[in-house]
Amino acid sequence: MVQQTLEVVKATELKEKPDPATLKFGRQFSDHMFMMDYSAVDGWHQPRVVPYQPLELDPSAMVFHYGQSVFEGLKAYRSADGNILLFRPEENFRRLNESCDRLCIPQVNEEAMLEYLKELVKLDKDWVPSEVGTSLYIRPFIISTEPTLDVSPARAYTLMIILSPVGSFYKGGIDPVGIFVEDEYTRSAPGGTGYAKTAGNYSGAYKAQERASTHGKAQVLWLDGVEKKYIEEVGSMNVFFKINGEIHTPALSGSILDGITRKSVIELLESNGMNVRQRQISMDELIAANEAGSLQEVFGTGTAAVISPVGRLEYKGQDYVINGSEMGETARWLHETLVGIQTGEQEDPFGWTIVLET
Ligand SMILES: *Cc1c(COP(=O)(O)O)cnc(C)c1O
Repeated sequence: MVQQTLEVVKATELKEKPDPATLKFGRQFSDHMFMMDYSAVDGWHQPRVVPYQPLELDPSAMVFHYGQSVFEGLKAYRSADGNILLFRPEENFRRLNESCDRLCIPQVNEEAMLEYLKELVKLDKDWVPSEVGTSLYIRPFIISTEPTLDVSPARAYTLMIILSPVGSFYKGGIDPVGIFVEDEYTRSAPGGTGYAKTAGNYSGAYKAQERASTHGKAQVLWLDGVEKKYIEEVGSMNVFFKINGEIHTPALSGSILDGITRKSVIELLESNGMNVRQRQISMDELIAANEAGSLQEVFGTGTAAVISPVGRLEYKGQDYVINGSEMGETARWLHETLVGIQTGEQEDPFGWTIVLET
């Protein structure tokens, strides 16, 4: 019988915690990690929390060759009264399974995963920083480990969760970013893997990200893979527009990520009486709205930055300034409200947060 209950092996030596003032994204990791294996015979088995450690994999492990892997990203926040809060973690495990489905990776038990995650974070609770703007970034991921060069879905996988304390995204206040509208490279196409958090989507985006950087822009704005006309998303964020007082965002078409921040922003706005239009938005329409003075705000949404206002857009060699490159009132309100709920500073009428019993 394979082991199915959570085994915990504690680290004998604990690492020194990094200085929260100098934290960089994803550079330091906590004392423990979660692991679980899949085999065709036993399914997912041997869930365990072990000291954070390197892996041993065969060079032929399929993930190295064909990139059959999926990941998630969420955060644990420290509230002012010392509690640890998770923000909608069940949504991440639901989406992990959607990504798994697209990549032919066997489904995981979402309820069990949530329990394993809670145990891991509780054990490494001292790694959840408490300074304003900081959090513990949580990275669940699955890799195919079967040692064969066959081009087919693997019959062996490992699921892991690693934890990394992250600093404030906005050290000197929230500065709107510049984005480069990419009209040559595309990120995904209808029928592709755009809605899945799978490794190849990100390495495939580096080339465009590099070009955006050489143009002095922080992020890429992706257009649709067919006509290169309609807006998809910004870097690893979903994107919203305020036009004539109304909020618009690209509809989920299968080629963009179904962001949990996106979903939360829509629910927040709608519960406050604002209508959010999920539809196709063309670059031409956006430029026309900006020229006419009716484009009031552009902002990205994602776990890392929560809300990231966009101050400038470069499209076909021309720079467009949005809202005088100032953060707009809707973005500001959304940021305050979401961060407030995530950190327990504001009431959570939606039941989005889970308080860990530590
Ligand atoms: C993860 C991700 C997002 C944002 O999703 P959240 O659940 O809000 O963090 C948006 N776009 C892409 C491409 C992503 O990978």
